[in-house]
Amino acid sequence: MSLKPQALPSLLGYTADDLTKLLKEEHGQPAYRVKQALEWIYTHRADSVDEMLNLPAALRDTLKQNFRMSPLELVRVQGSEDTTRKFLFKLHDGRYVETVLIPASPALYGEKSDRHTACVSSQVGCAYGCKFCASGLDGFTRNLTADEIVGQLMAVEKHAGRKINNIVFMGMGEPLANFKNLNQALDIITGHWGLNIGARHITISTSGLAPMIKKLADRPQQIRLAISLHGATNDTRDKIMPVNSKWKIDELFEALHYYKSKSKKRITFEYILIKGINDDLEQATILAKRAKSLGALVNLIPYNTVEGLEWVRPSEEHCYKFRDIVRNNGVTTTLRIEKGHDIDAACGQLRLKQETADGKITS
Ligand code: SAH
Ligand code: SF4
Repeated sequence: MSLKPQALPSLLGYTADDLTKLLKEEHGQPAYRVKQALEWIYTHRADSVDEMLNLPAALRDTLKQNFRMSPLELVRVQGSEDTTRKFLFKLHDGRYVETVLIPASPALYGEKSDRHTACVSSQVGCAYGCKFCASGLDGFTRNLTADEIVGQLMAVEKHAGRKINNIVFMGMGEPLANFKNLNQALDIITGHWGLNIGARHITISTSGLAPMIKKLADRPQQIRLAISLHGATNDTRDKIMPVNSKWKIDELFEALHYYKSKSKKRITFEYILIKGINDDLEQATILAKRAKSLGALVNLIPYNTVEGLEWVRPSEEHCYKFRDIVRNNGVTTTLRIEKGHDIDAACGQLRLKQETADGKITS
């Protein structure tokens, strides 16, 4: 199915309340029609309004004229069943985003290992420009709308023929810089009428937008939080993450303590190990202290090379040394040595290649 150039809004971006307003107030439909429409969208996963046979023909016509179902088109899948699979989606404006499906094992983010995790994108590009990251290489293009976030999950479930039961916002973009649409998508993802995935199975990853972390903490549902720390001191973070010039580590940790006061969920620190940049063993000791102050978990990730960047990962032996120091300081620590290197595993790389090929990115 190809998308119309002048894209209509997608039905995947509406909460039950929004749809009630739309169908009852604007189209004079009784309440049970809202329930029927929601069932078609989220339970039966209809591909088109034509399938919604228990809705009156006139209503179907109105819906067809004003809405489309999916806001994105699947253009490429890399990887196969039982491996990490990457999905590349084309959006109505010719931009691309990618979503990654990670099979049951290994266990991630404190989940049981029977979980299928989707790693979703929240923006096209990213304005935060971390120096090691492919997503930020070409700057920021635009926020994803709520339907484009929800649409990634539904399209991946459809293609894979299996239910996603764990979601991490670790694809392209900074989710907390797109808070309004993220919030709307979270309502649809967690809604019992929607994708019905529990908040405890959703992790938002952020590079450290302190005020937005507080806003996330104020949501009634307890979404899990992962912080891309990548440096245990301001000096180290300043070298690789421009966001640190806006919110220094102290301010970030103040927000994290606030989050902790509101949520029972443990925070995770993501720490990419980059050779000669943030991997000296002194950082490991400070990282451990910081994690302990919050009761946080630490997830160490050897750096995935990005085409065009000179950064590399430390030796496996050094990664283990770094891990042992954090661990021996009493912090629960995982080290993921992945084999994903060869399929453009670092988020943002598939899209970068495609948009370069399409002439959308020229540098
Ligand atoms: N913007 C958010 C979420 C998207 S990035 C954030 O920064 O947290 C998701 C994770 O992938 C982050 O921890 C990010 O630092 C990490 N990442 C980016 N480039 C990477 C690379 N080349 N190798 C390993 N991890 C990378
Ligand atoms: Fe943006 Fe996250 Fe990449 Fe930094 S690591 S550039 S915040 S996507």
